[in-house]
Amino acid sequence: MKKEILFSPGPTNVPAEILLAGAKRTIHHRTKEFSVMLEEATKGLGRAFDTKGDIFILTSSGTGGMETAVVNFLSRNDNVLVLNTGAFGRRWVNIVKTYGLVPDVLEYPWGESFKISDVEAKIKEKKYKAVLCQLGETSTGVVNDIKSLGDMVPKDTLLIVDAVSGLLTEEFHMDKWNVDVCVSGSQKGLMMPPGLAFIAVRKGLDDKIGKGDLPSFYFSLVHAKTYGEKGQTPWTPAVNLIYQLNRALEMLEEEGLDNVITRHKNMAQIARKTVVEMGLELFSSAPSNGITAVKVPEGIDGSKLIEHICEKYGVRFANGQREYKGKIIRIAHMGYVTVPDILMALNCLWLGLKKSGFKTKPGAMLSALETAAALD
Ligand SMILES: *Cc1c(COP(=O)(O)O)cnc(C)c1O
Repeated sequence: MKKEILFSPGPTNVPAEILLAGAKRTIHHRTKEFSVMLEEATKGLGRAFDTKGDIFILTSSGTGGMETAVVNFLSRNDNVLVLNTGAFGRRWVNIVKTYGLVPDVLEYPWGESFKISDVEAKIKEKKYKAVLCQLGETSTGVVNDIKSLGDMVPKDTLLIVDAVSGLLTEEFHMDKWNVDVCVSGSQKGLMMPPGLAFIAVRKGLDDKIGKGDLPSFYFSLVHAKTYGEKGQTPWTPAVNLIYQLNRALEMLEEEGLDNVITRHKNMAQIARKTVVEMGLELFSSAPSNGITAVKVPEGIDGSKLIEHICEKYGVRFANGQREYKGKIIRIAHMGYVTVPDILMALNCLWLGLKKSGFKTKPGAMLSALETAAALD
């Protein structure tokens, strides 16, 4: 029997309620019935982003949402600043370069968050059309300080934030924090299957959509806006994923969006304390609520360890990306994960480490229970 539970930062586990919500007759998308459900979804997402601005639902993975932000708001000759804290920061660089822009990049060693003072210095030096960054840098388990960034970035510079993994795992208030454009996706904190991207545009920016000179068709928000006003999407939407989105939003709102963030904070706390008790070292200097990244101890092959734990126990952790493959383990506690789940996953990590010859401290798992017991 194979029972696999995902502790990977996308895709994340999908609860049965959401799986079943998708198992319904596919309705036609040019109908009143569809418009009603699209409106419900956009309203729910507005609460999740904490914005009064427009929300667009795209049939795409999260990267399509990132590309949408670029092609609808920027021009070839714009000065843009990318705050690159890992693989997804690098993705912003690659997307804007694909469209012919030459970005300035503040690049940080993996495991570090960006520094506001560096951004401030750059912004004093040069006028930027946009600053692009991540709320959660999923490749390293880092959370960036978007609130301080939003306080600092000038009003006429667009702040474009990738919150694909950060939405509903980290505290985030798009409007209050002066974020102009924000992107997310279905397969992370929203505990849905992959396939939808979301893009939120701050109120008052509507007239800036599509005014640049970058080409776009499928990802044009000009079309999305025209159709959105009629309660539709320009192209055939992933109807069944939208059933699932509404069920996911309903479940999260039942829990309470603030409680969802607290749950993620709590699990991160258990994970961080426990791995340190085990004798491991945290990789991130600004650890996120959704992922705990740990360094693989000297002499152990991280890739083999991750595969062993998955094969033996069905617990799927994520490997490091790029040059960190085999060097870090990413334990995602994102989406449909509760305290008992993270305790179980950490036990399996302990078992795997023991099997690999690492001297795990036997008290670590007891201390995990103590940490969990000390939470509300
Ligand atoms: C997952 C993720 C994305 C999007 O990845 P896709 O594979 O295209 O869905 C973008 N940014 C961050 C920070 C992510 O975690």
